[in-house]
Amino acid sequence: ATMREERIKKTKTVCTYCGVGCAFDVWTKGRQVLKVEPQAEAPANGISTCVKGKFGWDFVNSEERITRPLIREGNEFREAEWEEALDLIENKFNKIKKEKGSDSLAFISSSKCTNEESYLMQKLARAVIGTNNVDNCSRYCQSPATMGLWRTVGYGGDSGGIGDIAKSELVISIGSNTVESHPVLATRVKRAQKLNGQKVIVADIRKHELADRADLFVKPAPGSDLVWLSAVTKHILDKGWHDDEFLQKHVNNVDEFIESLEPYTLEYAEEVTHLSKEELKWIAESIHEAQTTCILWAMGVTQHGGGSDTSTAISNLLLVTGNYMKPAAGAYPLRGHNNVQGASDFGSMPDRFPGYQFVTDDDVRKRFEASWGTSLPAKPGLNNHEMVEAIHDGYLNALYLKGEDMGIVDANINYVQSAFEKLDFFVVQDVFFSKTCQYADVVLPASPSFEKEGTFTNTERRFQRLYQVFEPMGESLPDWKIIMEIANTLGADWSYTHPSEIMDEAASLTPIFAGVNYERLEGYNSLQWPVAEDGTDSPLLFTEEFPLPDGKAKLHPVEWTKPLEFEEEYDIHVNNGRLLEHFHEGNLTYKSKAISGKTPSVFLEVSQELADDRGIEDGTKVKLTSPYGSVKVSCVVTDRVFGKQVYLPMNTSGEGAINYLTSSHSDKDTDTPAYKEISAKMEVLESK
Ligand code: SF4
Repeated sequence: ATMREERIKKTKTVCTYCGVGCAFDVWTKGRQVLKVEPQAEAPANGISTCVKGKFGWDFVNSEERITRPLIREGNEFREAEWEEALDLIENKFNKIKKEKGSDSLAFISSSKCTNEESYLMQKLARAVIGTNNVDNCSRYCQSPATMGLWRTVGYGGDSGGIGDIAKSELVISIGSNTVESHPVLATRVKRAQKLNGQKVIVADIRKHELADRADLFVKPAPGSDLVWLSAVTKHILDKGWHDDEFLQKHVNNVDEFIESLEPYTLEYAEEVTHLSKEELKWIAESIHEAQTTCILWAMGVTQHGGGSDTSTAISNLLLVTGNYMKPAAGAYPLRGHNNVQGASDFGSMPDRFPGYQFVTDDDVRKRFEASWGTSLPAKPGLNNHEMVEAIHDGYLNALYLKGEDMGIVDANINYVQSAFEKLDFFVVQDVFFSKTCQYADVVLPASPSFEKEGTFTNTERRFQRLYQVFEPMGESLPDWKIIMEIANTLGADWSYTHPSEIMDEAASLTPIFAGVNYERLEGYNSLQWPVAEDGTDSPLLFTEEFPLPDGKAKLHPVEWTKPLEFEEEYDIHVNNGRLLEHFHEGNLTYKSKAISGKTPSVFLEVSQELADDRGIEDGTKVKLTSPYGSVKVSCVVTDRVFGKQVYLPMNTSGEGAINYLTSSHSDKDTDTPAYKEISAKMEVLESK
């Protein structure tokens, strides 16, 4: 081989940007990324990627990376040795634990991190500190979807794979900006629509690209999805279009459920949702006529006071029409981050061990106690939302947060940031010095996905391995190593030398991952959970029975929760979501030139009607003020939004950050913030 060939390297990795889970080869020379090359054998994406997967990697070599631990001194931070930072953490954690008890500390894992890292975070909280105060950022997005599925079908995961969505006769997408949030998955839908005549129905308040291409686009009143879903379900039952055989064989609670639908007449739905009776009937007929229906949903559904109930209504509709237990059908909550599915799967949740086993279950706890060699707390801990309240109330005093700019991405951030100020001790672990780091006492330098090994689980419940492309920059370390260092400083004797050993331990304790190991995930091989001990995986989540008592699913009656109402002066409804080019608050993607060059900032989408009314043109700067705070942002006039509804992408941590506006109101069953229930008043600052 020539010198040149020796220096060029090809490494398989998995994208860090969204739940589609695209896998590809990265060609590198030294620390330079030469190109990203998707491979046909990649199970989720084949030869496709989107702009983020293709060009979003400059940040890895950014000079702004944190490469050494930082310790606060007054209002400044100074660089420190790892040993000093770890000693400080040991002293503070031990002191707070001794004086105020284990439950005065809390831990937040990240959906950007690997499964193994999420596993270690909850093990640190439970086994080393002795608290169940551990959660992850899927609390901000998909917990309500998981709740809706647990209640009805027992597992919180996509019913099949992305291939099933592509093969389905009918796809219904609700509150999902699919083309921008899950680009490669959306491409599969677009192709199926064109080549196979797949029918697509989109329900959203914004006319995004998939809505534009849909066979039917309906625009429900904000927060009213449960009502039209229930009315369609009732209409199907009234017409006798339900799958009687499936209901008899596989579903409990049918009569009680049918009774609960009584109020959801077409007339009532028309009045509340503003969908016409014709539209409602058309949806019901389309489901009836299709052999297979998939329902896709995302944050437009979940981030409401009744997000879990609307997710439940989706699952109820699928059960009534027999759209579970067969290929090309079922429920598809689209996971946002690359590892939203895995962060919860691996137990960074206040009431569940890995594999959704309850901490309150004595037998389960005994199994973990035997393996970890310590007694474990049985009382469920605090979720993210409750943690913020507990800090304000003075009984949560220390927080260890990794991979999350919580001071920007949580709702009502003025309130969250003031909570951070009240902490006795705050450790933040990240790749960049985020807004949240400003409130930390210690900042630990973490390595991004290119600098570590591990596994991610995509939206299809699919485990995939990532291999290390670069050495960690400076003194940064993979999160799993940092967590192990902290655990050992606090007296544990963990000795993992490779993430595969962490996975082996997790698999041995978690029935649904029993057969997961690194050999079976070599290269582009993947596994979809549940995975039996012999390695048999589950492309379809449900085949013969549901994982609920007596093997049957359960129709779960739900009632509509009205969205928050605001005083008249807050007359602008502020919808929010993603932009194709950027990832969340943008800490990574704004540092990638190819991306920030194209989309350097966020902008507020306003309708022509509102623009005419307020004298707004493209580029006009406005101030939006809600009861919780205000943002300043420039406008673009577009036909994607209507009337007094505006759309503000969440992709900035600057003065336009959406969560200065949002409230602490949350989903009543999971505490997921109701990001989508926010109104503001608008002031024109300067015309362009
Ligand atoms: Fe694929 Fe999502 Fe990454 Fe785009 S952001 S390359 S769709 S995983």
